[in-house]
Amino acid sequence: MKKISFIIPCYNEEENVVRLHSALDRFTQETFEVNDVRMDMKNFEWEFLFVNDGSKDDTLRALRNLRREDARVSVLNLSRNFGKESAMLAGLDYASGDAAVIIDADLQHPLEVVPEMIYWWERGYDDVYGQRRSRGKESRIRKVLSLSFYRMLGKMSDIDILPNVGDFRLLDRRAIRALTQLRETQRYMKGLYCWVGFNKKAVEFDTADRQVGESNFRLTRLLNLAIEGITSYTTSPLRIATVSGLIVSLCAFIYLIYILVKTLVWGEVVAGFPTLICVILFLGGMQLLALGIIGEYIGRIFNETKGRPPYLIESFNEENQN
Ligand code: UDP
Ligand code: MG
Repeated sequence: MKKISFIIPCYNEEENVVRLHSALDRFTQETFEVNDVRMDMKNFEWEFLFVNDGSKDDTLRALRNLRREDARVSVLNLSRNFGKESAMLAGLDYASGDAAVIIDADLQHPLEVVPEMIYWWERGYDDVYGQRRSRGKESRIRKVLSLSFYRMLGKMSDIDILPNVGDFRLLDRRAIRALTQLRETQRYMKGLYCWVGFNKKAVEFDTADRQVGESNFRLTRLLNLAIEGITSYTTSPLRIATVSGLIVSLCAFIYLIYILVKTLVWGEVVAGFPTLICVILFLGGMQLLALGIIGEYIGRIFNETKGRPPYLIESFNEENQN
């Protein structure tokens, strides 16, 4: 019997985890029909691996209560809040299934599409990812920003990162093994899924609205994630600095020749002060921007050279501590 792990990163989700657990429990007893094939979820062994990412509310206690009732529940407790990306890595490290399904704790990812994911997994796909048909309740600005971000990132790197594709996906052991080999501390999972490759398959779904509580991702946090995404995935911003430097120097050179010729032919003219200020400010801005971009990368180098683990475990299923 094949075993499938659900990996559920949780941060302040005390109400959601209980709901999710009963939804999962119901799900594992159901039978679905995918492309005219009957799929009985009882034919699989299940593991519900909840990763408590340093929640400040009673999520941990709720999880431990669930574990007491249901042996399929595993509780991985991180020592503090490491962020969803690291929490997912922790989950992948500790998942014991032949495949793992990463799912949000807030019930935004519909379980009904999981059988379809399993269907494709059984037919040889290693990474069956959920693709959002609609994005649920979300502010318009966030929608626009995130779509333009993906477009920009796609242009900047060789490998396309698909828009409307998140962490909701089923991963085969092969893909899990590959992903857990990538130990960078500043992680951008969406890029890593693409980077590892393997056979991929899209499954469409509609995002539900968040059940309880608010999204943990504020706009600033999303902006940070975007910068993270770009700097961890591609070095092309550095090239932007080089190219724009080249272009500006070229313009400056042409302008220099123009002035030279003008002076020689018509004699000296009084230099324009505003022009001067504009050029100085423009160049100053460009230099600061380029420095900032370089700084982003140096910061990343700094963080990675420390070689710290991406997360620390406080306890796993209470008994074995490390
Ligand atoms: N999450 C986490 N650590 C964090 C922030 C979020 O483990 O620091 C989890 C959260 O509990 C949820 C998932 O990541 O299961 C997605 O978070 P959220 O719903 O806030 O994000 P959104 O759906 O708005 O992208
Ligand atoms: Mg959510």
